[in-house]
Parts: sequence; C-alpha cells; structure tokens
Amino acid sequence: MSQYDFDLFVIGVGSGGVRAARMSAHYGARVATAEDRYMGGTCVNVGCVPKKLFVYASHFAEECEQAEGFGWQKTEPGFDWQVLRENKDVEIDRLNGVYRGLLENAEVTHYDGRARIVDAHTIAINERRVSTEKILIATGSWPFIPDFPGSEHVISSNEAFHLEEFPKRAVVVGGGYIAVEFAGIFKGLGADSHLLYRGPLFLRKFDDGVRSFVADELSKKGIHLHFNTNVTAVEKNANDTLKVITREEGEIEADLVMYATGRNPATHDIGLENVKVNTRPDGAIIVDDYFQTSEPSIYALGDVIGRIQLTPVAIAEAMAFAKTQFQGQPTKMDYDNVATAVFCQPNIGTVGLTEADAREQYDEIEVYESSFRPMKHTLSGSDERTMMKIIVDKASDLVIGVHMVGPEAGEIIQGMSVAMKAGATKAILDSTVGIHPTTAEEFVTMREVRSS
Ligand code: FAD
Repeated sequence: MSQYDFDLFVIGVGSGGVRAARMSAHYGARVATAEDRYMGGTCVNVGCVPKKLFVYASHFAEECEQAEGFGWQKTEPGFDWQVLRENKDVEIDRLNGVYRGLLENAEVTHYDGRARIVDAHTIAINERRVSTEKILIATGSWPFIPDFPGSEHVISSNEAFHLEEFPKRAVVVGGGYIAVEFAGIFKGLGADSHLLYRGPLFLRKFDDGVRSFVADELSKKGIHLHFNTNVTAVEKNANDTLKVITREEGEIEADLVMYATGRNPATHDIGLENVKVNTRPDGAIIVDDYFQTSEPSIYALGDVIGRIQLTPVAIAEAMAFAKTQFQGQPTKMDYDNVATAVFCQPNIGTVGLTEADAREQYDEIEVYESSFRPMKHTLSGSDERTMMKIIVDKASDLVIGVHMVGPEAGEIIQGMSVAMKAGATKAILDSTVGIHPTTAEEFVTMREVRSS
C-alpha cells in the first residue's frame, strides 16, 4: 500500500485534466481531481463548445437571405440574444453534469475548490490536505488583456458568453483565431463588427494565401477590418457606450469592446513557489517529452505548457501521460500535422505546412490551388468564394500541407489530416474517386500545378 492518499492528483478538470484522470484511473491508479470554477474547463464553458453554438447561430441570417434564390419567401429574421444565451447555458449545465459523471464512473475522488501545491507530494484544497505520489498541473490558460488607459472597460471572450445585452456595435481587438471567430459571430448575429489588429494581416501562423483570402471574404461580408491599427485608449461616453481611440484610424464608437490578445498559462496562485517547477519567461511550465517538470513528482500538460493550445492536443497529451505513468508504456506526444479549424464565415481548415514553411523546409515543392464559387452560391446570390490548396514535396510526392477556406472546411480537413498521417502522396489523391457534387472532391481532382 502506498504511503500517499492518492497515486495522482490532477489540478483542473478541463480537457486535459479530465482525460488524464479518467485514463489513469482506468489503468489502476488511485486518482483525485480538484476544480475551482467549472467542470469541463475552458472548452466546455467559455471556449470551443459555446463558441461553436454561437457560430451556428450566426449563420442563420445569411441562410435566410440566401434562401430566396431557392424559392423561399423573404422573411425578416428576428434574433433574440437572451434565448440563445439561455439555451446555451442549459446545454453547458448538461455538459458540466456529464463531466462530473465521467469522473464518478471512473471512481475518481473529486474535490470542488481551488487546489494549491503545498510541497512536492501535498495538495491543499481550502482547509483540507491530501498527499499524493504524483501531481498533474492541468490548469489551462487565462485571457491576457494589456494594460492601457480604459482597459477596465473592455471584456475578454470569457464575458462575451454571458452578455446581458447583445451589442449593436462591437469592436474586437486581436489577430488570432478567437478574434476572427468573434468578429464573425458579432456580425452574423446583427452587430456592426470591427476587427482591429496591430499587424499587417491577421492569423499570423496560417498560410499566407489563406490569410489574404479570408480577409477578402470577411470584408465582403461587411466586417470592418482595420490592420496596422493600435488602440491607445478606450473611453466610456456619458451614455455608457464606448469610444475606441486608435493611433492610426481615429475613433470608433462601440457598445462593446472585446480583447482577444492572447492567453497566458494559468500558473498564478497554484503554489508553484513551494516547489522547484521551472517556467518559461511567458509563464508556461517547462516539461520534458513525458510531461515531467523539473520537480520529479510534478507533471503538467495542456494550455499551461504553452505548446499548442487546442482541446484535442490537451486530450492527446493526457492520453500519452496516463499511458506513460500508469500503463507502463512510455508514450511521446506527436505534434506533427495537428489539423485545426477557424470557425469564421467561411471556415478555415488547415493541416501541415504553410506554403512559406514548405518552401523553407523542402528543396522543391508543388502547389495545387483552386478558388471558385461553390455550387450553392450559383442560386443563393452570395458572392462568397471557396479556396483549396495542396502542397506537395516534389521529391517524394508526399502531401505536406492542405488548406481550405470554405463551408465546413473543418469537417473536410479532418479527413485530409488522416490521409496525411497515413502518408498520402499526390498520386494517391489523384487515384481517389471523388464524391460528386461536393466541394471536397476538388481535393482529389486538382491536376494543374499553380507554382513550384
Ligand atoms: P482548461 O480546459 O482551461 O482547464 C483548466 C481547468 O483548471 C479550468 O477548469 C480551471 O478552472 C481549472 N483550474 C485552474 N487552476 C485551478 C486550481 N488551482 N484549482 C482547481 N482548478 C483549477 N480549442 C479547440 O480545439 N477548438 C476550438 O474551437 C477552440 N475554441 C476556443 C475558443 C475560445 C474562446 C477559447 C478561450 C479557447 C478555445 N479553444 C479551442 C482552446 C481550448 O479551450 C483549450 O486549448 C483547452 O480547453 C485546454 O485544456 P486544458 O485542460 O489545458 O485547460
């Protein structure tokens, strides 16, 4: 019998923490968890899930407009924010219960409350202390808002999910995927939507062709894009509305200003000062290939280690951790070719190298690219376009990058990522029979090299 109360104590019941706790228990470990805010973490409560529900909601106005071309009578859509917010809350409550149940079913001991590390084998949850052989820090990340005059008037994505009133005019500041998605949500739900970014073009790590294509599409939809724009202050007007003062573009009046300017690893007030856990200058916890920190009994994974901040990555890291620690199967996380989507309108789906990275890493590449009006829009009246791009290493014929901007790009690219993982070559794509009529079939019918 171990000298400790538990084999593993997991701090944080988010995407990574839940999976690590459940799998470790499944492999026979005595596991405890603590959560001080919400079961399921960021993804379930203020991330992927409510965001995607809002994205679904934001499509309907456009759909109603486009239906006319297909013979439907024009109806003026009326949107009720309170209904959306409350229905979303009901679904999130349900999911909170599901997550609690998952831990119960796995026979994990759960504590509601904030956990702090007391020493390398002791955790305090409020007044209670428990001992544990290993500690896993899965505390996630937290929105970062820079300090500037009037920063107290702006919100982060956390608050955007709980607004009392839906704004008529929204300003989103930031250039990452969360900023782009929210600019689309606000616009789709009826607000006049502005996106401000200090750099020349948003979505910095994405393929350049995708970035400029999306910028054009969002502009066509009426989202006001302000690049190379720096906010100097946000002021509150007498009537409680806001004024965003920029260095380059003058002032923008708004009812809501949301900052999506990055997320910091959540390491504040978890007791790191009591142990020897090294962090990077940005606060991310440094771990080795098996998620072990510089304190041998303490491990960390998910957003808090600042590698790739996505739910499926946190889950995959958790699987690798549990296998390594409690199944006797040392497993490293494979970060290659992680597919991802941005749920703007139209969606982005992407996997593998950007064209610029491919040119740097390979002697010779071939780029296949196509941009067209999807069939639906031949009748819908919409001028939205779709773009698709395949990047191939000429020497091996291996597909090394696939990018798409268009409806359901996330759904389509998931399949392409499986093909890439299985080592698909361009010849294999060429020999695949398409599904007609779909947009996805373009990935198996592109024959003309755009450039090499
Ligand atoms: P989290 O899920 O954040 O869980 C950490 C948990 O730890 C939290 O519940 C927190 O309350 C708890 N905690 C922290 N400190 C303590 C403590 N001391 N004691 C007890 N509990 C503590 N990812 C995608 O893959 N797809 C998407 O579409 C997507 N959309 C997103 C949209 C938004 C607006 C945001 C903000 C994020 C989005 N993400 C998305 C990212 C995704 O949510 C995160 O990558 C993921 O949740 C990280 O999981 P995690 O386990 O590391 O942390």
